[in-house]
Amino acid sequence: MNPEERSVLHKVLWVLIALILLALVFAAAYLIANNLLDVFWPSSPLPPLVRFLLTVLLGFILFALLALAGTCVGRWHRSKEGGRGRVGMDTLLLDAMDRIAHGDFDVSITPVGYGVYTEVIDAINRMAQQLGTMEGLRQDFISNVSHEIQSPLTSISGFAKLLQDQDASLTPQQRTHYLGIIEAESKRLSKLSDNLMKLSSLESQSTPLNRREYRLDQQLQSVILMLEPQWQAKQLEVEAELAPATCNGDEELLAQVWVNLLGNAIKFTPAGGSLRVTLHAQKDGHNLVRITDNGIGIAPEAQMHIFERFYKVDKARERAAGGNGLGLSLTKKILELHGARIDVHSALKEGSTFTVGL
Ligand code: ADP
Repeated sequence: MNPEERSVLHKVLWVLIALILLALVFAAAYLIANNLLDVFWPSSPLPPLVRFLLTVLLGFILFALLALAGTCVGRWHRSKEGGRGRVGMDTLLLDAMDRIAHGDFDVSITPVGYGVYTEVIDAINRMAQQLGTMEGLRQDFISNVSHEIQSPLTSISGFAKLLQDQDASLTPQQRTHYLGIIEAESKRLSKLSDNLMKLSSLESQSTPLNRREYRLDQQLQSVILMLEPQWQAKQLEVEAELAPATCNGDEELLAQVWVNLLGNAIKFTPAGGSLRVTLHAQKDGHNLVRITDNGIGIAPEAQMHIFERFYKVDKARERAAGGNGLGLSLTKKILELHGARIDVHSALKEGSTFTVGL
């Protein structure tokens, strides 16, 4: 039954109940009037028809008195509850909406004794709560972005000042080292802005996915080759087992997924460690990509947070590694848009496996 039909049924039921109540009250009033005539005028010489009409009239007067008393009691009850008549109620709701419109989301109306307004009040309370949560997320986001911008800027301006200082008498090696830090921090800022732009564009869904059929094994192969300078620098052993498979998706965005996952595996695996990338085509048509490392691993309590924006398990180490905690949230968003899922299995000091089902 749809909401409109339910509302019509409610109305019909209320009318029926009201009619039955009216009939009962009128019957009670008629009986009382009849008894009153018997008690106060037992031997009336009136013909039965006149007596009947008189009883009906008396019953009607009694009925009217009862209805009047009922209305008065109802009014008194409403005024006792703080004037929640229609006008009082409207003011209360408008007041709540006005507070919400002005950014005050601490609105909570207790939905007791408001009858038909209960659902509206529930909706207003829910809306205020959700807007409050969103406002909290917005504030967190701003403070995270400010922090991520502020820390590289502090470092850049500090080292630039040091390099300008004639009295510091720096060796050429020190100069090169500080310039290297300035370059790395600038890259970090640029990556942050790039990631933020991508996240916001994916979340607003302003740019639709550019889906097409392509060879997933070849894409993984080229990402491994592209990151060769990084894994070679750490002397990591990389093993790939890629079954030929095609995939229907946005090639550019999915390349970003593999770069993020493989980049993290390289970043969080100490020198001399090993990585493994596998691709298996499932019988149900899904492709299963696994990226495994034997690096530092992720503690169970951190695993549920790693896909959140700006989350870093070890802030100091991540800063040194040039991360901004957006890589995995971007990865998850891209996979969500493809209707794909990502899981992580990890144990501290043993390593991690990220599995993507496409
Ligand atoms: P970033 O963009 O800084 O690399 P991510 O969103 O990609 O951040 O990752 C979030 C956090 O998850 C990182 O701080 C890191 O601690 C943890 N993490 C991600 N991948 C791995 C991994 N393969 N091994 C260990 N920790 C990882």
